[in-house]
Amino acid sequence: MTSRILEPGQIETLAQRSIPRIRLPDRDTLFARRAERFEALAVASPIGAYLRLQAAVARAQHAALADFPGTLPTPAQRSAAQAHRMPPMPAAWPRAPAWRDALSAIGRAVAALADCPVEVARLGERVALLSMEDADTQADRLLGVREGAVDTAAAPLLMAALQVHWTAASSRLVADEVQPLDVPGLCPLCGMPPVASIVRAQAPYRGYRYLHCALCACEWHLVRVQCSQCGASGKDVAYRSLVADDGTGEPAGALDQAVRAETCEQCSSYRKIVYQEKDPGVDPVADDLASLALDLLLAEHGYARASGHPLLWQAEPDDAR
Ligand code: FE
Ligand code: FE
Repeated sequence: MTSRILEPGQIETLAQRSIPRIRLPDRDTLFARRAERFEALAVASPIGAYLRLQAAVARAQHAALADFPGTLPTPAQRSAAQAHRMPPMPAAWPRAPAWRDALSAIGRAVAALADCPVEVARLGERVALLSMEDADTQADRLLGVREGAVDTAAAPLLMAALQVHWTAASSRLVADEVQPLDVPGLCPLCGMPPVASIVRAQAPYRGYRYLHCALCACEWHLVRVQCSQCGASGKDVAYRSLVADDGTGEPAGALDQAVRAETCEQCSSYRKIVYQEKDPGVDPVADDLASLALDLLLAEHGYARASGHPLLWQAEPDDAR
């Protein structure tokens, strides 16, 4: 038997290969678990009613995804993307018309909510009745492929329907066949920025940090203690959470143990990072939205969100994000 000694560079390469680079969503559980998480977070939250509304949206997404017809990048789209190291189902990817049915279903689910404020019910009805043309125009603006004003009230429901469309595809792909991009801060499947990071606790992903796509729910690996926006690492990266105001320095509540902000001194931005080992139920989308108090604190300290939340849109002076 022969043996050989690995050079340091080879050891690192082998270690990198053993890490699952891509984790794709499970269409049977993604939105159902997110709904459960929103419900759980709502119990002790000052924005509980809002989180329960999001739980209803996630339940509608789950139902819509179950009925969603299969749409996948064609072999030609995939090989062209691979050749140019581009995402195979980018924001400008032609949408299956069924995305509009998902939008209607989500709008109707919101309108039918018990104890729903009348303006929210009206929003649900309005979105459910949007014409295909108007819905497509708004979708293109949200995805950044067409110029124009975003309907910020309807945007969260539109994004929820677009998540169904893109997740219907990402959940049918094979992780080993997804090629990471040269830009680590963008989703290798759709090219959108991540909403947040998750450090997973179950094998084969245990202990690894993944960025979670805001659109297609694909997760891709990024080493820990590295800024997902500019790539800075080491002492420029810090972790911040809300602490109790009793002087102990302990996390303010259960949510604050499992959710932190990864801040960067180089680009003065942050993204949240959630830890499954602290709470197995964490969800990057739900926990990011439920921890708005942390965003307010970070803004006071001069940090800006690296990218927005897909289900939270604010009107800006130029209607751009
Ligand atoms: Fe994506
Ligand atoms: Fe940075």
